[in-house]
Amino acid sequence: MTKYIIVTGGVLSGLGKGVTTAAIGLILRSRGLRIDVCKIDPYLNVDPGLMNPFQHGEVWVTKDGYEADLDFGHYERFLDVELTRDHNITTGKIYLSVLEKERRGEYLGQTVQIIPHVTDEIKRQILEIARINNPDVLIVEIGGTTGDIESMPFLEALRQLRMELGKENVLFIHVTLVPTLETVGEQKTKPTQHSVKELRGIGIQPDILVCRTRDPLLEETRAKLSLFCDVAKRDVISNHDVKIIYEVPLVMDAQGLGDTILEKLNLRERRHDLRDWARFVSRIKKPKEKVTIAIVGKYTHLHDSYISIVEALKHAAWKLNHEVEILWVEAEELEEEPSLLEELSSAEGILVPGGFGARGAEGKIAAIRYAREKDVPYLGICFGFQLAVVEFARNVAKLEGANSVELDPKAKHPVIDLLPEQRGIEQLGGTMRLGEIKVSIKPGTKAHEIYGRTEVGERHRHRYEVNPVYIPQLESAGLVFSATSDGGRRMEICELPSHFHFLATQFHPEFKSRPRRPAPVFLAFVDAAIRKKAQRES
Ligand code: GLN
Repeated sequence: MTKYIIVTGGVLSGLGKGVTTAAIGLILRSRGLRIDVCKIDPYLNVDPGLMNPFQHGEVWVTKDGYEADLDFGHYERFLDVELTRDHNITTGKIYLSVLEKERRGEYLGQTVQIIPHVTDEIKRQILEIARINNPDVLIVEIGGTTGDIESMPFLEALRQLRMELGKENVLFIHVTLVPTLETVGEQKTKPTQHSVKELRGIGIQPDILVCRTRDPLLEETRAKLSLFCDVAKRDVISNHDVKIIYEVPLVMDAQGLGDTILEKLNLRERRHDLRDWARFVSRIKKPKEKVTIAIVGKYTHLHDSYISIVEALKHAAWKLNHEVEILWVEAEELEEEPSLLEELSSAEGILVPGGFGARGAEGKIAAIRYAREKDVPYLGICFGFQLAVVEFARNVAKLEGANSVELDPKAKHPVIDLLPEQRGIEQLGGTMRLGEIKVSIKPGTKAHEIYGRTEVGERHRHRYEVNPVYIPQLESAGLVFSATSDGGRRMEICELPSHFHFLATQFHPEFKSRPRRPAPVFLAFVDAAIRKKAQRES
């Protein structure tokens, strides 16, 4: 039978609850348990696909083409798994399903209410994940902060679940903040006390407290939290700031978190081995030579918008025994002040990530032109692929007025056009070309050298593509389309053989990068940047 760990959050959002959840999963998996993890997002959106990165950070794309919260990235990276759409429960999804049932008359004349109908639907969807995947432990992270009105039905449903399944089968872990007062250096427990009180008010007594703090939790702070929150001292875990997030499982397990969870859930460990992970972490923590990569984007002051790109760069750099330093470049500023392009000269590689819409696009194109003309390693992803084609069309193939129809619907040369199957689509949510699609790579190309295979599966999220009409002209001007999909109809990778390293992908390789298994495209790019650095220094 599956056991459940419910992770709630207290005091404020953005505490790193997703990382904590993923780390708990890793700790338990290292004990030989089969782990599954799902996320509850209490907002009314059906999925986060249409949410602005300013509000929500990046959108993660699962293998099965679901647009998910960025915490899915933490889960997949830490646990090296591939999750599916059913692992995300939102208020929107729950209500949609309840209202559809109501319209079908399935409630047989009853008054449909939050309790029991909405709470039953929440429990049903959670139990269904456990039924399908049958893990030893299903970890359920609840987004938002305790006390938010919209998370109430979820907390109520999980309180009921604990009552129905028993304390030994459902465990509550509360992730909270213990701030340090700068002037006196004192760790303050009051916010945590209040948020635990809030939880208790709805009938949930947390079993374990995970405290986010700047410095390790002091013994007296631990004692105080234990006393006021009614949690045993050993169950108050310090999750203090660390330089590298992959260290979090080690920090928490060293305080006995794994043992106490097993004990409370009445589980036996099958092995106990975090040693491999510990070796990996100690290797990546050692000071290293730096390589600088410029990311030219639209949300560069909000790093959560590009979290998977940055992680993928780090994974690649670690593999090559380097540390990556990011130079954030705001594309719109490049448009207004072209002299800022010179800033790019301090980077050994230039990356243009995925994006949407016209704002900043010309700045990105200018950065791509800079990379191409100055022979600086370039990696373009999705929008960064499409804009590389636009730049090449304009400045090399001499197709004056070339553009993407996303940016200029009346472009003289629409080298990037709407995908044919996207015509006529009116509903925006979940309707892009999404998820893992088979990509065929042409032998003898750089892409082939990078992957060492002729067929790979990569994740997608787009509505536009290279306009097939222009392929002959672009190719005869020297651009190589080295990978395709859908029987050769869609262009997936482009590269410039005459350049030091210029490669762009229509898909998003960052979603398949793992800390110990970097995505090949990122590895090749960072490797090129390191070689560029050596070339410049010699
Ligand atoms: N806006 C482009 C498209 O829809 C690129 C999307 C992306 O970068 N994810 O095709």
